[in-house]
Amino acid sequence: MVDSACRRVLRNLHQILEPGRIRGDFCKEIQAHLNRCPSCARRHREVLELAVLCAQMPPPELSTTSKKTLLKKLRASLKPRG
Ligand SMILES: [Zn+2]
Repeated sequence: MVDSACRRVLRNLHQILEPGRIRGDFCKEIQAHLNRCPSCARRHREVLELAVLCAQMPPPELSTTSKKTLLKKLRASLKPRG
């Protein structure tokens, strides 16, 4: 089930990958939501796993352009369904 709180969290989940962008209170809100919403918690885990994978990529292969593409794909994948 995707309610409005889920949509809000998923829409902003990518911000956790951009340090300094996310506000502390919203970060807490996300954490609280993830604690009670298994489906968003799963998405959150996927995002973190992807972030770790990306961090492990050799720097020369991850140009600014591919970073942007990646972020775009990530954002698209985080769009709530339905
Ligand atoms: Zn949720």
